[in-house]
Amino acid sequence: MPDFDTPNPVPCPKCGRLYVWDGTKCCRKDCRHGSNKKPRKLRVKIVGVYPVETKEPVHLIEVTVEGSTADAFDIGEVTQEIAGQPRMNWQAPWDEQMISEKDGKARIVFFFHCLDLTKPLTTPAGLLALPPPKKIPQRLKSMVYESP
Ligand SMILES: [Zn+2]
Repeated sequence: MPDFDTPNPVPCPKCGRLYVWDGTKCCRKDCRHGSNKKPRKLRVKIVGVYPVETKEPVHLIEVTVEGSTADAFDIGEVTQEIAGQPRMNWQAPWDEQMISEKDGKARIVFFFHCLDLTKPLTTPAGLLALPPPKKIPQRLKSMVYESP
């Protein structure tokens, strides 16, 4: 029997994401398939990768997001592939914070467990290579890691 309360989500034909396609157009600002508006190209840059001094293998990652509103940057889509494991087992950002947003450029930091520095980070703007880790700068010292 069909369940009308929870229809099967149809992925957007262009970006392939569920829950963004209303049947005629895509609501993602970086896609907008089916509408006559131009997609906004999301530009994400990894500014820094900083090891956190804690018992767990954790890094603080700093990124800038441009070309789209920061809310179009879905932090939930940031992950890193673990070969041979389904995506649901991959790591996810932890305790993300926006540290500034002006002129369409947002600066976001988040913690990431078990980061593999030899592999790229998967982001809504594609795969991004990780820069070599650096000592955490003074301006980010207030970002204190708390275990999940
Ligand atoms: Zn789309």
